[in-house]
Amino acid sequence: MIYDTFQELIFLWMTIGALAFLLLLKIPAPYGRHTSSRWGPQINNKLGWVFMEAPGMILLLYFVLTSIPRQNAMSWTLISLYLFHYVNRTFVFPMRLRTRAKKMPLLIMVLAIFFNLVNGSLIGYYFANFGQYSVSDLIGARFIFGALLFIGGVYINWDYDNRLIHLRKPGETGYKIPEGGLFGFVSCPNHLGEIIEWTGFAIMCWNLAAISFLAWTIANLLPRALSHHKWYKQHFGNYPASRKAIIPFIL
Ligand code: NDP
Repeated sequence: MIYDTFQELIFLWMTIGALAFLLLLKIPAPYGRHTSSRWGPQINNKLGWVFMEAPGMILLLYFVLTSIPRQNAMSWTLISLYLFHYVNRTFVFPMRLRTRAKKMPLLIMVLAIFFNLVNGSLIGYYFANFGQYSVSDLIGARFIFGALLFIGGVYINWDYDNRLIHLRKPGETGYKIPEGGLFGFVSCPNHLGEIIEWTGFAIMCWNLAAISFLAWTIANLLPRALSHHKWYKQHFGNYPASRKAIIPFIL
């Protein structure tokens, strides 16, 4: 495929992401607290996480392992950071959830598999065919700035996923008002952290495939944070009024 066609495909994918964003503002993705049996057959949510997150990682690996001569220390660093995120999300995160036989619609799993297949392929295909990184990029200002954002985002995302998971004692199933740290400012610091993380990744990679992945992450997580925030306010009369959904003081 020539680069122009690749770019056009990415613009098409980003347009679909913009439509998904508008849809998700109206209909919260039905998993977690928004899950519902109205969306057809369901699957155990931990298994769902494993199945839906694995394909992107596998496809990216396929593309880079079939183009090893093209890769160098810079591209391997970027690839490793992507895999680092996905190994956690696919294998570690689901095992840590305290969701006690909770289910998610198969439809969500299938859509997420598609999302991850396309993103993993686009990023992998870029590395395999177009990426022109040099080892000296590793000490460039753009890489260092992106890496700092990425590390900060991962730290926030993991820390606040962890805090949310531990709001439930083993065996508990309900929801509580999270308190402390960034929860003083926003309802969903874990989603904010994930957006910061992929912003850092896009800056480090500096290519359209990584930017489209960031755009899709925002399209998924911004509406989800708004839905969570609304849900908290509906379910807890004493929910802190000054807290925003995802961007401190703003949104
Ligand atoms: P949530 O914040 O909805 O839930 C995370 C975990 O904490 C779940 O097990 C949830 O239980 C539990 N939990 C959350 N709030 C409470 C509460 N108030 N009281 C008790 N338990 C609580 O995260 P998501 O499911 O939306 O996302 C999980 C991770 O995946 C996040 O890190 C997110 O950034 C990432 N993600 C990334 C996407 C992307 O496009 N890159 C898309 C979607 C998610 P329960 O499941 O029962 O609600």
